[in-house]
Amino acid sequence: MIGEGNEHAQVMFIGEAPGYYEDVEGRPFVGAAGKFLNELLVEANLERTDVYITNILKCRPPNNREPLPEEIEKCTPCLEEQIRTIHPKVIVTLGNYASNFIFSKAGLEFYGITRHHGKPHEVSLLGMNIKVYPTFHPASALYHGEYRTLLIEDFKKLKGVVDSNFASTEKLESSSSSKQEQLRF
Ligand code: URA
Repeated sequence: MIGEGNEHAQVMFIGEAPGYYEDVEGRPFVGAAGKFLNELLVEANLERTDVYITNILKCRPPNNREPLPEEIEKCTPCLEEQIRTIHPKVIVTLGNYASNFIFSKAGLEFYGITRHHGKPHEVSLLGMNIKVYPTFHPASALYHGEYRTLLIEDFKKLKGVVDSNFASTEKLESSSSSKQEQLRF
C-alpha cells in the first residue's frame, strides 16, 4: 500500500504503517483510525481529495507489531520519492514514528510527540523548504480520550500553518530527560 491523494497537495500526512483494512483495500487510513482522520480533516477544512496520505511502512507488519528499523530503512527510498514528487508545503506527521523519522531526516532532535505536537517547524528536507507539523496518531485517540481533544485542537490550527509564511520554530535544545519518551503513537 503506497499511499493516495492529490499529486498537487499542499498538505501531506504520514502515518506509521497500514493495518489490516488498509492492506486489504490497498488504501491508507480506511479503518477505525482512518474514520477519525476523516473527522479531523473536517476540523481542518480539508477534504481527503485535497491532501496526500501515506505511511512510513508500505506493508503491514505481522500482528500489527511496531515497525523495525530495517523495515523503515527498506521503505525509506519510496517515502522520499513520494515527498519529492508531491513537494508539499506542510507535512503532518502522525505519531511518534513518523515524527521521529521526519525530524531526524531534517536534522532535528526529537523528544516525543507529547512535546512537539501542534508546533510547526520550518525545515530543509531533501533539499526542499517544508513545514513539518507533528501531531498524535489518530489511533491514539481511540485508546486515550485525552488525545482526541489535543488532535482536534492541532487540526483546527492546521489551516493557519498552511497559510502562514513563517512557522514558529521551537528551540530544540539537548535534554536527555524527555528524550526517553517511547509512546506507541
Ligand atoms: N495506521 C497508520 O499508521 N496508517 C494507516 O494507514 C492506518 C492506520
